Amino acid sequence: MTRLLIIGPPGSGKGTQAVHIARHFKVPAVSTGEIFRTNVSAETPLGQEAAQYLDDGAFVPDHLTNALVRERLRDSDVRPGFLLDGYPRTAPQVMELDNMLASLGHRLDAVVELRAPDSELEQRMIQRAKEQGRKDDTVDVFRRRLELYHRETHEVVSVYAGRGMVVSVDGSGEPGAITERAIAAVEKFLAAGVAP
Ligand code: ADP
Repeated sequence: MTRLLIIGPPGSGKGTQAVHIARHFKVPAVSTGEIFRTNVSAETPLGQEAAQYLDDGAFVPDHLTNALVRERLRDSDVRPGFLLDGYPRTAPQVMELDNMLASLGHRLDAVVELRAPDSELEQRMIQRAKEQGRKDDTVDVFRRRLELYHRETHEVVSVYAGRGMVVSVDGSGEPGAITERAIAAVEKFLAAGVAP
């Protein structure tokens, strides 16, 4: 069965790609961002704790995020496989995930890294902010998230690259073409056992 991670900067279309890639591999997509947003809307205790971090474009503290993923990975639907979207995002979270998977007797098969130039990400973000009529400060929040991505999440990619598990995918262009590219690259990697 297939256990995948997807990593990509804000605005890379990571969430959309996660859903399509997960469908192809017949595994559930588990998005930490989406779980946080659902909790914020439902005003659960977790949502109340996480809300400010989401609004600021900051990371939710590790103790909350790790506990959430630990619990989610115990569910029966993810036993045969999963695609984790948005976790791990920091080096300590990589170690946490290593421990969680080890205690479940599982291992990851591949890490999909979506790549796109910052200029394109920012253009998409501005477009989306306009279309959705959000406040101007959305662009500031976006820049903060992008900066955080470069500062923290690149390290996550480096760790997995050191393990020879990263499948890098060009994330520019049409969403459908990106999905096809990503699926083909992962299939090739899984068949060969080496990053293309
Ligand atoms: P994006 O991919 O656009 O950055 P996500 O939906 O993955 O958005 O995440 C939205 C927000 O949820 C993040 O900005 C952060 O506040 C929080 N979040 C999601 N995953 C994590 C994580 N692994 N660690 C800390 N915070 C997280």
